[in-house]
Amino acid sequence: MAGIRFASVTKRFGDVIAVDDLDLDIGDGELLVLLGPSGCGKSTALRLIAGLETPDEGLVLIGGDVVNDVAAKDRDVAMVFQSYALYPHMTVRRNIGFPLKPLGVDRHERDRRAEEAAAQLGLGDLLDRKPGQLSGGQQQRVALARAIVRDPRAFLMDEPLSNLDAKLRADTRAELVELQRRLRTTLVFVTHDQVEAMTMADRIAIMVDGALQQVGTPDEIYERPANVFVARFIGSPPMNTWAARIDRDGEATLTVDGAAVPIAEPGRLAGLGDQVVVGARPEDTSLAPAGIPATAAVVESLGHERLVTCDLGDGERSVVRVDAHLPYPQPGEAVHLALDPASIALFDPATGGRVP
Ligand code: ATP
Repeated sequence: MAGIRFASVTKRFGDVIAVDDLDLDIGDGELLVLLGPSGCGKSTALRLIAGLETPDEGLVLIGGDVVNDVAAKDRDVAMVFQSYALYPHMTVRRNIGFPLKPLGVDRHERDRRAEEAAAQLGLGDLLDRKPGQLSGGQQQRVALARAIVRDPRAFLMDEPLSNLDAKLRADTRAELVELQRRLRTTLVFVTHDQVEAMTMADRIAIMVDGALQQVGTPDEIYERPANVFVARFIGSPPMNTWAARIDRDGEATLTVDGAAVPIAEPGRLAGLGDQVVVGARPEDTSLAPAGIPATAAVVESLGHERLVTCDLGDGERSVVRVDAHLPYPQPGEAVHLALDPASIALFDPATGGRVP
């Protein structure tokens, strides 16, 4: 087992900065999820750990050792990809035991360890089948078993669940977390799916355009997003944001689209200019007799609650969570939005950064 560290790592492909001056410490035994939109550099970061890419600047460390010049095969990390990459002509047993072959482990011991890894993933009955005789979910579990069989220092997984249907994906996600807790092996997991990140991670590292935006536990990131991008990327639906004015006639007050927006601690507005971006999660936004003017556009029932998407005057939209037993508007109806004064997030309109 080993911790992993990026120290000021930059990786370029021609003019593209895929990873931009990344500093990140991944703890020994931690499950860290690298999250971000397509093209943000998360796969490149993972490949830098695996040794499939070399940094242009900075150091990559595994277990405290700089590995910049260590070949991929000598890094003792196991990578699992979105495509299962199983050998079609080999049985499940042989596929799982395959990584032990170059290590000089004899066939009998390879089979024994493959069976042990297969048992950990509930594949015990499928050992003699070929990959073509397995479902997608079973094939992905064989790929996972092949990663754990040689007891590597770390697992690196690049969108390993994306080929599975929604139900299987949720089940496999839970199994994977349980397996990682049991093995206590460092796991770096790449995904663009924020729900996957929120449900699996000890900590999430969010990247945009090669740059790290925030690292924290799922709760920290949900409750205190570091900037507007993170606020609008995390959460399903994500945080609502509005351009607001700060008026300083006496005590500072907030208005959005002419409507007063009460804030629990007006002192937070001190020292800001006259514009700010206000954020509130859909559960902290409600339909009220007075407030930000909007028009109900879409009402979606999720059984226990409804999501009411509202059009604002400026072409933006906000989403309100409404308990299923409460009244809700019809599409086209004029509504007003109120924000929980204690839960309001403030962001700098120029930089997008959070204002404490
Ligand atoms: P995705 O989720 O789509 O896989 P990602 O966040 O994993 O995206 P990367 O694959 O790390 O992103 O790519 C980061 C940037 O670097 C992208 O702009 C991509 O086009 C570029 N890039 C990655 N690999 C190469 C390469 N081998 N040659 C040139 N450009 C590359």
